[in-house]
Formats: sequence, C-alpha cells, structure tokens
Amino acid sequence: NAEHAPPIRHDQDHFIGGLLSPAFDEQSCRSRYASPHYRRPSPFRPSTYLVERLRRYEARHRRCGPSGPLFKEAVEHLRSGRNAARSECQYVVWTPFNGLGNRMLSLGSTFLYALLTDRVLLVHAPQEFDGLFCEPFPGSSWTIPADFPITDFAGTFTMWSPTSYKNMRHAGAVSGDHRNVSAERLPAYVFLDLIQSFTDAAFCEADQLVLAKFNWMVIKSDVYFAAMFFLMPAYERELQRLFPEKEAVFHHLARYLFHPSNDVWGIVRRYYEAYLARADERVGLQVRVFPEMPVQFDNMYGQIVRCSEQEGLLPKVVRKDGEANHSSPAVAPESSRTKVTSVLVTSLFSDYYERIQGVYYANPTETGEYVEVHQPSHEREQRTEARGHNQRALAEIYLLSFCDRIVTSAVSTFGYIAHGLAGVHPWVLLRPPSPKTC
Ligand code: GDP
Repeated sequence: NAEHAPPIRHDQDHFIGGLLSPAFDEQSCRSRYASPHYRRPSPFRPSTYLVERLRRYEARHRRCGPSGPLFKEAVEHLRSGRNAARSECQYVVWTPFNGLGNRMLSLGSTFLYALLTDRVLLVHAPQEFDGLFCEPFPGSSWTIPADFPITDFAGTFTMWSPTSYKNMRHAGAVSGDHRNVSAERLPAYVFLDLIQSFTDAAFCEADQLVLAKFNWMVIKSDVYFAAMFFLMPAYERELQRLFPEKEAVFHHLARYLFHPSNDVWGIVRRYYEAYLARADERVGLQVRVFPEMPVQFDNMYGQIVRCSEQEGLLPKVVRKDGEANHSSPAVAPESSRTKVTSVLVTSLFSDYYERIQGVYYANPTETGEYVEVHQPSHEREQRTEARGHNQRALAEIYLLSFCDRIVTSAVSTFGYIAHGLAGVHPWVLLRPPSPKTC
C-alpha cells in the first residue's frame, strides 16, 4: 500500500542528526522519520547540546508526564487552589489560539520556554486540534488528560482573568521582587496572556524569577514569543549552546515537535505521490489575502509575477503579446527527457491558481521545460474550529515545505511555518503597493 512505500530520497539521515529520538514505533507516526526524506537536505545541523537537552527533556517528561505519581500529586495541588512550596515537576500548559500557523509558532515557543525553565510541556487539545499531530515525546503524552481540573479554558483564560500575571501584578498580588514572594502564598497557577503583544512584560528578568515559583503555568499566545528569550541575558549562554545558528531555532524546534498524524500524513503522501513526486523541481506559492486587508486580484497577481520574474522563482514564459522578449522557446531534442517543474499553489481561493495555470497552458516556457500547476484545496474561508479543515491546512503547510523554492505571503504565519520546516531561503511577497499610490 502506498502509505507504506519507501521514502523517495535517502540522502538525509533518519533521525535528523539525533534531533529525533529513535525510541518511537515508526508505524504509529509515519511522518516522523519519513518527512525529512521528502526535502532537500537541511543546511542546518542540530547542535550536540540541543540533542542532549532534548533527551534529558524526554526523560523528565516521562517522569513527570500524565499518568505518573508525580503528575497526580501536582494535579492535587492544582485542585487545592494553592501552589506548593517545592515541587519536583513544574508544568507549562499551552492552550491554542487563532489559526494553525499562529498555534504552531506559539506552541514551538512554549516548548523552548519549557526547555529553558525546566518545565514539562502539556497541551490543551480541543477537538479541532486533537489528532493533528503525533505525540512528540516517547513513552508519554503531551495532552492533558480528560480529568484535568481545568476544563473551561476559553472562559477561564481571558484578558480579565484574575490569575493572569499582568492582572496579578496590577492588583498587587505579586510584587516585581521575587524575594518578597512566598511560593506557598501563591495561587495554584499563573496565566501568561501573550496574545499579539507582550504588554504584560513577562520576559523581564525580575518577572521570570517570580514566575519560576509557580508550579503550574498556562500560556495562551498566537505569536513567536521565543524571540523574547534572545533579549534576556539570563538565557543568553544557554541559547547560544542550544542554537549556535540563530536562524535555525524554529527549524529545529518544528522538525522535532510537529509530526502530522497518520491521517494528515495520508493526505500529504497521496497528494505528493499523485502530483509532485515526478517533477524535477517543485515551487511552492502560498497566496494569503487577509479579509481585513483586502488586496485587488490584479494588484496581488502583478506582485507575484514581478517577484518571481525578478528572482527567477517561476519558469518564464515566452509571451505572444510581444510585450516581453521575442526569443523562441528552447526545444529539447526528442530523445532527451524534458524537465518538469511542479508549481504548488496554496490559497483559500482558486483564482490565482487558475490564472497561473492558464498562463502555462497557453504559453511555452523560455527554456522549453514543462510546468504543471496544482492546488490541493480552496476552502474559501478560515474555519479553525473544524478539525478536517485544520488537517488539510497542516497537510498543505507540509506539502509547501517539501518544495525546493517557496514563495509565501507577508504576515502569514501559515507560510512562515512552511519556510521554517523546509529550512530554505524565505521568499516573501510583500503587500503590493496599492494602485492609488502607484
Ligand atoms: P495566517 O492567518 O496566515 O497567519 O495563518 P494561520 O494558519 O494562523 O491562519 C490561517 C488559517 O486559514 C489556516 O490555519 C487555515 O485554517 C486557513 N488557510 C489559510 N490559507 C490556507 C491555504 O492556503 N490552504 C488551506 N487549506 N487553509 C488555509
């Protein structure tokens, strides 16, 4: 069966330089070891220190994670409403907010926070998030169990929440000086509200010392707040050892943490094999037009053409309208195999795909190569509350990340994740200038 077919490329090592633990059952999560083989070899290697820290993290997760006695004890404290003075295991619970790309950025950041602060990462997975990813830590789970004392995450964690660190500070419930804060007097958990902005200033040194006293922390965010850690002297040395190549932080975190479930991987595999596998080159093009910032079709399309011509990203066509060059297409000799480039378009709408596909249908390319254009779906609107919709979105992020060149839309986290996973040079379509200002 196609799902069990051997990976296409074998030029990358199976465990990504030790980033992935070999302790998993391959069939329970086929994407984990298979997906690197679908990409060009990554230009980045995880540091040996990162690998060592991940193995140590996994051991801690097994010890403190759900179902063990230490977890039960910590949950009892949470239920009691009081923070314990000493606890062998401390936790950070991530709760999802906003679209899938935003979720992956904030979840990746939360994991890095857990690594830096020796906490155990747990995930609140509502039905629309459940089943998207495989378990990332061997021998344990990252999902909070069904009998977890906090159930109403949406109602409990709002900007008005009295357990938000920002609100606690404003109310004088915690002081900025950790020496004045006694751990036993604290509530059982603290909520870090990191939506869009960092107004609660949780990432000052003094705040971190107070926050370290809470055994339970809940984070809600839709941004890549990992960037904040790089501004903190306390984490500087550790981050330097973990990630000597600063531009590859998300790349490594994402390749470690995010593995599409077998259901999502089925979508990825089937689509890849049917539409992309035989191409000599794959170009991904993600067009995201935000409903709150509409851009006219011709304006956006013009930007795509300008950018890809300028940077040589899409094969050029010989135009018949005499507007461009007049060179004839190169004709490959009958015997030689002609190069095929696959263009993968992802977008909520089909209009960009239709235009691009039409251009390659009606015109030869300058090099004589063939171009096929595909778009897996056009869902019309974002439906983050629907699991099937999120599964397709994740599949498309993965398919984009398998492309040799990826062009994405500015301000779209969906595209950023694809770049990050691929570890390729990011080509980003800036918002086109409005026609009025041209
Ligand atoms: P951002 O809003 O562009 O930063 O990205 P997010 O991923 O956070 O939110 C956008 C959401 O809209 C995605 O998660 C999908 O649910 C949906 N979406 C946007 N563009 C696409 C697309 O090209 N394909 C699919 N399948 N879904 C998309």
